[in-house]
Amino acid sequence: MRDQIVAGNWKMNCDVQEMKTLLNDLKKQDFKENVKVMVAPSYTNLYPAKELLEDSHIEVAAQNMHEAENGAFTGEVSAKMLTSLGLKTVILGHSERRSIYKESHELLAAKVKTALANGLHIIFCIGEELEARKSDKHVEVVKKQLTDSVFELAESEWDKITLAYEPVWAIGTGETASPQQAQDMHAEIRKMIANTYSSAVAEKVSILYGGSVKPNNAQEIFAMKDVDGGLIGGAALKAQDFTQIINSF
Ligand code: 13P
Repeated sequence: MRDQIVAGNWKMNCDVQEMKTLLNDLKKQDFKENVKVMVAPSYTNLYPAKELLEDSHIEVAAQNMHEAENGAFTGEVSAKMLTSLGLKTVILGHSERRSIYKESHELLAAKVKTALANGLHIIFCIGEELEARKSDKHVEVVKKQLTDSVFELAESEWDKITLAYEPVWAIGTGETASPQQAQDMHAEIRKMIANTYSSAVAEKVSILYGGSVKPNNAQEIFAMKDVDGGLIGGAALKAQDFTQIINSF
């Protein structure tokens, strides 16, 4: 049985007070058991989030980190800074990092290495842009993202990898992939892992879907055989909506 995970990627939203209100609301909700719930606040909110969630099952994750252990990198945050707060998970490769901040496959491979060397679990994001989908190149694009950044890892390191398939055309647009489109891609991804490693690894890796997941579509997406949860943007900023999504399993 794979881990079922619903993670809220809050992106650059919420000042500290807004976040505390949201977390206090979330703490009052009843979540379905067996679903791992995570929230990923901005760097400045990580410490207060950790403190506020001390007595809760909600895990706090980071949205990004630098690939170097430390050094003269003004404005950056290292893996050790994250683990020193007690964080266990970092999101890497989000499409906004790839497109806006030009994070390359090579850079992401370096970040993955550093995160693992520091004992972090990774939610590694992959997904094609609209043009690739229209020209039927989506599988190829995702394969390259995996091949160049995570398929060099040792088989044992996959214990610490969760994948999030987020088609870029579905992020923040209100347009989701259909449940079948999500299922097809997730099955393709599992096949790629099986071909590169083994079917045992492929069957173990949780693959989340992200892109306009809302309370009204989560259930049909999560019902798909190879969809193990979601990476939620906008809807994770509302305690009720996020809870409804979590409870859609
Ligand atoms: P939306 O749910 O707002 O489309 O964002 C998805 C996302 O990018 C999560 O990482």
